[in-house]
Amino acid sequence: MKPTYEPVIGLEIHGELLTNSKMFCGCSADYGSAPEPNTNICPTCTGLPGAMPVVNKKATELAALVGLALNCSINKHNTFARKNYYYPDLPKGYQISQYELPICEKGWLDVDAPSPYPSTLTGTRPEGRGDSLPPSGEGLGMRVRVRRVHIEEDTAKLAHEKNYALIDFNRAGVPLLEIVSEPDIRTVETALDYATKVRAILRYLGVNSGDMEKGVLRFEANISVRPVGSDEFRTRTEIKNLNSFRALVRASQYEIERQIKIYEDGGMVVQETLGWDDVRGVTTSQRSKEEAHDYRYFPEPDLPPLQFSDAWIESIRSRLPELPEAKTSRFISDFGLTLSDARFLTSELSLANYFESVFAKSKSSAKTVHSWIAGEFMRYLNDSGVDIEEVTLPPESFAKLIDMVTEKNVSGNNAKVVLADLLKDGGDPQEIVKAKNLAQVSDEGFIQEIVTKILSDNPKEVDEYNAGKETLFQWFMGQVARATKGKADPNVAKELMVKGLEERRK
Ligand code: ADP
Ligand code: MG
Ligand code: ZN
Repeated sequence: MKPTYEPVIGLEIHGELLTNSKMFCGCSADYGSAPEPNTNICPTCTGLPGAMPVVNKKATELAALVGLALNCSINKHNTFARKNYYYPDLPKGYQISQYELPICEKGWLDVDAPSPYPSTLTGTRPEGRGDSLPPSGEGLGMRVRVRRVHIEEDTAKLAHEKNYALIDFNRAGVPLLEIVSEPDIRTVETALDYATKVRAILRYLGVNSGDMEKGVLRFEANISVRPVGSDEFRTRTEIKNLNSFRALVRASQYEIERQIKIYEDGGMVVQETLGWDDVRGVTTSQRSKEEAHDYRYFPEPDLPPLQFSDAWIESIRSRLPELPEAKTSRFISDFGLTLSDARFLTSELSLANYFESVFAKSKSSAKTVHSWIAGEFMRYLNDSGVDIEEVTLPPESFAKLIDMVTEKNVSGNNAKVVLADLLKDGGDPQEIVKAKNLAQVSDEGFIQEIVTKILSDNPKEVDEYNAGKETLFQWFMGQVARATKGKADPNVAKELMVKGLEERRK
């Protein structure tokens, strides 16, 4: 019988920090707005001899903030190190990074998908997910340990032309954070969940835009596979520069299968650094993996160690906002939302805030407000390409419209029409309903008249329905909607229609 294999995955996440200036000089870090290549540069970030680095204080604050958000401890004493390697986009011939003493260590992040480590949070597992436990895992745990978070600097950008390359140093020296997980991840689903949650946290903290298309956030997946039931850590490969969640998932799946095949064929996996070819859908060998000692790390002689006081660390901690996990729990306990509804709303801070302001003004249930936001509202954002931050519809107006549906003053379908108007041109929901003559009618006498007329106009359909063709019921309801321009209270109409059909049963 063939042994089955399980993957072991550790993720390294690189995220630029949203500071004004670069990590070790005063040049603007906003290389995206630079008018031209090589305009945000100085002797330090182009690696000229004798230029001295100076630490960006703001970057250390943001790094500590991320560390605290990821439940790390902050090293009060931490140091910079030189990571030596030659590469055309690294003008000094080394990268200033952190090695032995990173700014943050030993954190964790709870995820919904399986991992071998138990979570302290309970009730965070959504139904239907994570049912396939990691075969050698100890149980239902959903915790990924964060080994370290350290500060380094981004590289320049190369543009490869036909037989030469151009270099732009505007990005060189931009503060970069590296978040390294322990190899706790056992499924690609968990890797995706972890990466998604880290991105959401960075966005909540305002330290990174999460804009993967611009390359400000990049993933590297370290992958090995081992027979199910084994506890060994086998040789891993590292897939570099995954620039989207899709690439992370596809590359990991491909690499897991490639390694399993190697073992099944009796071969050995070689430790190496891989690239991901998104077009061909394959990982490609870039170089045999270097070991830490190949970099000849040594303490950066041009920078003093960072020394933090307890008071400083506490002042950073006090800046932590309510994070996605806490917000999710609050939305569940205070508003009675389901886990998946709460997760959806808290996936983006702006979405969570908008929901809360609409809900605060509304008399309807959180579930109802959620379904308007998750449904019609999101559809509008997706179709129009409008960002939620650009939405001008005041939460009060949205709340008023939702309440009009709850109070049966307008039908759900007609309210969608009103919402589209509100989102496009603003206005008052009540006035729009009046102007467009969309008010819902619950008056039984009025609806009964229409139902009776439809039933007597369509004897054939009535007979067919009563002979068992139940799908016709929707057709009858459609006739009511048509005759009343969607204004009849659907519950009243349904009740009267059921009764009418019943009476005509022979
Ligand atoms: P370094 O890069 O300093 O050599 P490691 O090699 O220990 O550090 O880890 C780098 C990344 O690879 C981490 O995210 C870690 O979780 C992951 N990793 C380490 N060993 C394995 C393994 N056997 N399989 C999969 N991932 C691993
Ligand atoms: Mg690495
Ligand atoms: Zn500079």
